[in-house]
Amino acid sequence: MRAARALAALLLLALAACRPPRNPLAEWLPSPNFNPRRPQLVILHHTAGNTFEGALKLLQTRNDGGPVSAHYLIGRDGRLAQLVREDQRAWHAGTGAWGPYRDLNSLSVGIELDNNGSEPFPAAQIDALLVLLEDITRRHRIPPALVVGHADVEPVRKSDPSGLFPWQRLAERGFGLWPDPDPPDPPAGFDPDQALLRIGYSLKDRAATIRAFRLHYRGEKADQLDATDLRILHNLLAKANRAQSGG
Ligand SMILES: [Zn+2]
Repeated sequence: MRAARALAALLLLALAACRPPRNPLAEWLPSPNFNPRRPQLVILHHTAGNTFEGALKLLQTRNDGGPVSAHYLIGRDGRLAQLVREDQRAWHAGTGAWGPYRDLNSLSVGIELDNNGSEPFPAAQIDALLVLLEDITRRHRIPPALVVGHADVEPVRKSDPSGLFPWQRLAERGFGLWPDPDPPDPPAGFDPDQALLRIGYSLKDRAATIRAFRLHYRGEKADQLDATDLRILHNLLAKANRAQSGG
């Protein structure tokens, strides 16, 4: 009898734990017309560290620079760990912005790649990333073009993932925006700043944005646009417009 009462008490406790949080100020008159809030984009990072365990510790504790986190961490060998539920807000995107999107921590899934910033990303790690991207973008119906780098959304403060990150490999699987090989010259009057804005970049600090753009598309450092950048930008603009119109 006592065991049955204990079991009933345990069941009640479990039920209470499962019950969604509701505001006690209001009468609960539930509607069936809802669905979970969904992330809108994916932001990729490198950890700037040397070990999976070191990165994990940083992402799980209150470290010197303040607490940070991401939803996922991928090791050099393809080990894939989830640290934060996707319906919760991880702390990885700081004050970044992308196109119309602000408060990116609230709107994105953050993925950290264990990488020190000056080494290539091993195939096993990128293979694991591609599987994860396919899963996340399908479940949340995130447009594949909205897979971006931390440096893209926070160009003043950040430069990850590094110029060694294989954006082209991602593009071959449909993720991110990527130019055609040898795109033609843009027409006279082409406005590269408007193209940068349309793609999603901020122009608050133009030189920083050009650095992020060059890092992403050419793996190099530069804070002036050259003729190659203009060709790439013009080509990307057409692709961004097509992605936006669902084509
Ligand atoms: Zn980052």
